[in-house]
Amino acid sequence: MMATATPVPSDIRDPGLAEQGKRRTDWAARQMPVLRGIAERFAKERPLQGVRIGVSLHITTETAVLLRTLRAGGAQLAVCPSNPLSTRDDVCATLVVDEQIPVFAWYGEDLPSYYRHVAAVLATRPQIVMDDGADLIAALHSGEDAAGLAAAIGGIEETTTGVIRVRSMDASGVLRFPVIAVNDALTKHLYDNRYGTGQNTIDGILRATNVLLAGATFAVAGYGWCGRGIAMRARGMGAQVIVTEIDPVKALEAHMDGFRVLPMAEAVREADIVVTVTGGHGVVSADHFESLKDGAILANSGHFDVEVDVAALRALAVTRRPVREHIEEYVLPSGKHVYLLAEGRLVGQAAAEASPAALMDMSFANQALCTEYLAREHPGLEPGVYDVPAAIDRQVAQLKLTALGIRIDQLSPDQEQYLASWQSGT
Ligand code: SAH
Repeated sequence: MMATATPVPSDIRDPGLAEQGKRRTDWAARQMPVLRGIAERFAKERPLQGVRIGVSLHITTETAVLLRTLRAGGAQLAVCPSNPLSTRDDVCATLVVDEQIPVFAWYGEDLPSYYRHVAAVLATRPQIVMDDGADLIAALHSGEDAAGLAAAIGGIEETTTGVIRVRSMDASGVLRFPVIAVNDALTKHLYDNRYGTGQNTIDGILRATNVLLAGATFAVAGYGWCGRGIAMRARGMGAQVIVTEIDPVKALEAHMDGFRVLPMAEAVREADIVVTVTGGHGVVSADHFESLKDGAILANSGHFDVEVDVAALRALAVTRRPVREHIEEYVLPSGKHVYLLAEGRLVGQAAAEASPAALMDMSFANQALCTEYLAREHPGLEPGVYDVPAAIDRQVAQLKLTALGIRIDQLSPDQEQYLASWQSGT
């Protein structure tokens, strides 16, 4: 049964707010041609007719374009956030008013209400859960919702940390349905994680602080796809970039990409800005705070608000106070000042607008096509974690190229045969 009550602030049906959300969503949609093509086909073929889908994503204009696409395919949706600080109230309003989609969210909600909203989506008994961080999948497997778990045919996971979580559920033998790891599609992480997080992290830091990056020393913890993007863009703005790593292969790659590689204990002595993007926790911790320079800025662009150990920073600080939106000042026992951005949550989502629509076009095209795939193929899929089918990945890249007006060459039959042959030189 779909929930009809929508426990959101009273202005959620405000026509002005809905109109603003609609216009901003239309703006994002202009930059999402791949999704537009899929929506047109979905409207004709209705591959998701009557399928109940529970969605936990950042509630942004780009997500609204995805939700319109799924609805065009016939899906029945219920939506909660995947992070309390990324929700845009005007987007909630247009989804509720213009699309009649139940949305359980508001900007800046506290954690109890966040988890109530996750529960409200699960109460609609979704057949497919679409996650960013695996909160819906984990809640369904918590052992407290047997009926909900029985109703679910599968899940789709958007982000790196969520994929790590479902893989660990699978390895421990608890995962009860197939989950498609959208994050691991090439057309997702090579673009959204690298260029999207790369840009939105810098954007968030600049919007929050308005500091000059040229000449600043900028430390990036973690050289995965997101970290590579942030380091590349910080260098592009003229910063001197330091990378910290725990993986020898990635550390070597950062070195050969021309970055200084240091342990965190040394990086904190030099950095004007430190950004964590590892997916781990305690990356900047009690061991490091007093080594920071006076005035150092700390930000996080990884999954949870635990990469910078905010609890330890609070415990250590003599005083703390907000200095402007998204900046909190901590005075340490030594008298040094440290500035934490966006409460240690994803800075590019909280202080800027997450990944741009042109990239989410590809990530969410994977979501839409994988939803269709799961709805059709689930009877043949055992519980486990699945890659996005290679044909979908390539199709998304090709559709994006076509939309951009970029043409590429094709192998001749002769060249194909050459590449397929193991005999040398013939
Ligand atoms: N759920 C976690 C972190 C994941 S954030 C948390 O909130 O702490 C990273 C994910 O956000 C990426 O995988 C990306 O696909 C998604 N994302 C980035 N920009 C987005 C946007 N504009 N709209 C919706 N999701 C976005």
